[in-house]
Amino acid sequence: MSVVITGVSASPGIIIGPVHLLRWEVPEVAARMVEPEEVDGEIARLHAACNHAIERLRKVRDRVEEHAGPEEAAIFDVQISICADADLHTSVETLIRQGFAAEKAFDLVLLEWREHFARSSNALMRERVSDLLDVQIRVLSVLLDLPDRDPVDLPKGSNAILVTHDLTPSLTVQFDRETIAAIATDAGTGTSHVAILARSLGLPAVVGLRDATARMESGATAILDGTHGLLILSPSPARIADYRGRARIEQEEARELQRYAREEAVTADGVRITLRANVDMPDEAAAAATSGAEGVGLMRTEFLVVGRAAMPDEEEQYEAYSKVLRAFAPHPVVIRTYDIGGDKLPVGGFPHEANPFLGWRAIRMCLDEPELFKVQLRALLRSAMHGDLRIMLPLIVSVDEVRQARVLLDEAARELAALGVPHRTDIPLGVMIETPAAVITADALARETAFFSIGTNDLVQYSLAVDRGNIQLVSRFTALHPAILRLIARTQAEGHAAGIEVSVCGEMASQPVMAFALLGLGIRELSVAPRSVAAVKHLIRSIRAAEAASAAAAAVDAGTAAAAELLLRERLLAELRLSGDAVDGLIALVDTHIVPDIADSH
Ligand code: PEP
Ligand code: MG
Repeated sequence: MSVVITGVSASPGIIIGPVHLLRWEVPEVAARMVEPEEVDGEIARLHAACNHAIERLRKVRDRVEEHAGPEEAAIFDVQISICADADLHTSVETLIRQGFAAEKAFDLVLLEWREHFARSSNALMRERVSDLLDVQIRVLSVLLDLPDRDPVDLPKGSNAILVTHDLTPSLTVQFDRETIAAIATDAGTGTSHVAILARSLGLPAVVGLRDATARMESGATAILDGTHGLLILSPSPARIADYRGRARIEQEEARELQRYAREEAVTADGVRITLRANVDMPDEAAAAATSGAEGVGLMRTEFLVVGRAAMPDEEEQYEAYSKVLRAFAPHPVVIRTYDIGGDKLPVGGFPHEANPFLGWRAIRMCLDEPELFKVQLRALLRSAMHGDLRIMLPLIVSVDEVRQARVLLDEAARELAALGVPHRTDIPLGVMIETPAAVITADALARETAFFSIGTNDLVQYSLAVDRGNIQLVSRFTALHPAILRLIARTQAEGHAAGIEVSVCGEMASQPVMAFALLGLGIRELSVAPRSVAAVKHLIRSIRAAEAASAAAAAVDAGTAAAAELLLRERLLAELRLSGDAVDGLIALVDTHIVPDIADSH
């Protein structure tokens, strides 16, 4: 019987294909004890399992090196050396000699090592915690005879739907678009790390499926409907045929929308809007540059670090930033300095925190680790030789942070000058407005910065006190809450008064109803996922800015997010019908519910 699991839409598109289930979690290990005469056999079993894991890791490393590169593959070298570590073996053997079965001994030692490494004051040791976790899962899977599959095992052309609890760094680097066509995860929300990654890769994705991994088997056929946030298991032939038809319609609509990619982003009443793209992966830049975007409004540099054994050096960063700048020249490219921390823990080298979203992350970490930060700043100043670079600082709460960052930026420039390395020093420095503190002090920030970019994902999280990654709270994560609309309006007004640019680069800008509201609040610059550029451009061309302003004013007064959404949707649909030019694809996007019903239906 066909089963429909409802999650959260993270990246649109329909894929019909085989499930590749990956249970990448520490398995339950029973406390099995052994007799003294079994000890040697258990030790031999331990060694055999570690050797098997090393073999597998070598294979994974080689494949990843082939399709992603040596830096991405280095994470597996680290894990190989953990598997072969003599101290680790001695500790596990000691427990086996005390009567623990190999799997229990290995589990206990790895748990202890992970806790010890996580508490270390040495950043290099903290960086190994996620590798230890991967090794723990891998070796225990061998010892317990559980399936050990890696995404790279899939043959090219598999068109598989990867179903997993959450994406770990070592899984992320194994992504090969020629094998994995879609992603489905138990965890996550529309604005969590995995969703942003899927959108960057242009892979259809559904997140927040809660217990999906427990409800399916590898190899079974499934339908992933990224547009509506559904995963359908064991679909009937009729349902498959129906979805093939829907996929064709979606593709046709996307093609139809594509006609607008090249047009100017100007409203029906003549207001010019700047539409840029959020580009996170340098390898995606060339394709994104054809989306019709006038530059990059946000490049999230932390994606360069995902799944890596070490932070990328200056040269590698310079190449990555230059690639994006060259692809978009002469348009501006806004590159954001590292926003590491929160749910973005790429290197795993961060202390465990009770409240990571309120913790040591983003600009805080960069200012406390000036040497690490300056590597990035030097790479940025050098890459500026290849285009119109703008540097943006994340998670700003006060002007001090901007001043300190500027001191480090000047120092980085002096270091390059002393070495005679070509670079530019006239780079506009802007800030993300994504905390209530930044909005309330926007006048002061505007005096010291070149531009504002509103990060609605975090602004909603911090203003409404709703964890953006918590699936339980999805219906409360409402960007159309009157408080958010007022914060955006205030930021726009302060930026306008100071004569600096104000853009919106959060996910809100990609959704038609919300983009309509943003234009109505006076925002004149939006940055959206490359896939959404054509649709948002078409939306801009189909509406009148004056009508958007009157609808947004009514939405602010509507009192609740739900009332605001209803009102905006109706006013937008009326505007689209009136324009006479609006294509079905755009109307379908407006009709897609922003927050899906998360109850299961069978
Ligand atoms: C945001 O917070 O809205 C934003 C654009 O940044 P990120 O999603 O990377 O936190
Ligand atoms: Mg943010």
